[in-house]
Amino acid sequence: MIGLVDANNFYVSCERVFNPALEGKPVGVMSNNDGCVIARSAEMKAMDIPMGAPSFQLEGLRRQGKIHLLSSNYELYGDMSARLAQLLRDACPDVAPYSIDEMFIYLDGFSDAQCQTLGEVVRRRIRRYLGLPVCVGLAPTHTLAKLANHVAKKQSHYQGVCLLTANSPTTAALLKQLPVSDVWGVGRRIAERLAVSGIRTAWQLRECDPKQLRKRFSVVLARTALELRGTSCLEMNALEQPRQRIMTSRSFGKATGVKAELHAALRRHAQRSAEKLRQQKSLTRAVLLFLTTNRHRKDQPQLAPSAMIPLASPSDDTRIILEAVREGLEQMYRPGFQFMKAGVMLLDLVDAQQYQLSLLRPSTKAHPHLMNTVDTINQRMGQDTIRFGMTEAEAPWQLRCAHRSNRYTTCWDELMEAGTHPGAIAAARVKREQQQLARAQRLAQPRA
Ligand SMILES: [Mg+2]
Repeated sequence: MIGLVDANNFYVSCERVFNPALEGKPVGVMSNNDGCVIARSAEMKAMDIPMGAPSFQLEGLRRQGKIHLLSSNYELYGDMSARLAQLLRDACPDVAPYSIDEMFIYLDGFSDAQCQTLGEVVRRRIRRYLGLPVCVGLAPTHTLAKLANHVAKKQSHYQGVCLLTANSPTTAALLKQLPVSDVWGVGRRIAERLAVSGIRTAWQLRECDPKQLRKRFSVVLARTALELRGTSCLEMNALEQPRQRIMTSRSFGKATGVKAELHAALRRHAQRSAEKLRQQKSLTRAVLLFLTTNRHRKDQPQLAPSAMIPLASPSDDTRIILEAVREGLEQMYRPGFQFMKAGVMLLDLVDAQQYQLSLLRPSTKAHPHLMNTVDTINQRMGQDTIRFGMTEAEAPWQLRCAHRSNRYTTCWDELMEAGTHPGAIAAARVKREQQQLARAQRLAQPRA
């Protein structure tokens, strides 16, 4: 059996753990720079506020106290996600995180009844230890587990844990109702093409001849059909093919033309990209940098410079990539422009192992352990524990996040304060509000 553990409204649930007053209220979490809504509580969905609604349109509702809007607090969500994975590892032999709030668990050799019990235990434990609500879907394949999870979320009588066997009448009934586009891995385009052939439900896809599907569509779709029958054939590795390029880019909280600030932003993006590069065990041959001004400001001069710096030999060493960043910025920087966004892209990636095996090439890793050590420390102790060059903690180019909650689990200064004396509670609230205000003021400061 394969289980999929998926947190309900993950970002909002993380916020509620540390601010229980949000429980039962319409809560939304906003994107970078507080631009639009990217996560909604059930109550907010019930108000018909769509995903991606621009924050400024909701400002009125927020002022009237009818909804709560929070800046995204990725540090908190990332840490809660790591804790969720750890809790699962304590309970299950084999865990594979799939996204920030979805994790597969592999339960080979367990009976159906044992899987059901384990699912219930895990769900209770995560709620109790972490405060997060999750649902668990159990089935013989990834595709059916995803579906079981969907059912556990939608149908309350399952109480958050749904086990589907391949050939039960329940599974058949579900698949007959389910539009094929809701099947994991079937995109809108494939669904349209399937509809032309009269395949509209998940059940019809399951009944298709895999050989025909392979010939007319793709091997992935043929496998999906087999998965719906209960034959496990999707490898997690196949789902996560190494990327061909890696990009990290962000809009600034506030436009800037100061070279040192642009350099700091690019440096940070480069470090993040290099981490991702090493995670997927690739090397990069070239570094592309870019800056863009705010194209909506027609009153300001516009420029979108970029620079591409090829590396002497493929590398995953942050220091070499940072040197390319420095060189690239020298090339593309022009004074007199207010830039709104910066990005770093690593291009032309090669497989690190294959590359190093070829005898004619010099070793590209002068200090293989150094980068591994940096990554391990940052994974264990938190992002940016070790970093290259200076990065101001709250530099003006950093994200706008006027409504961010505290980083309760990763920042000493922002820990939760507990007390029973009404005076202490009031004092803690005042302190929290002062911290928020100070943060907002720092971000709003005029620039030299
Ligand atoms: Mg989720």
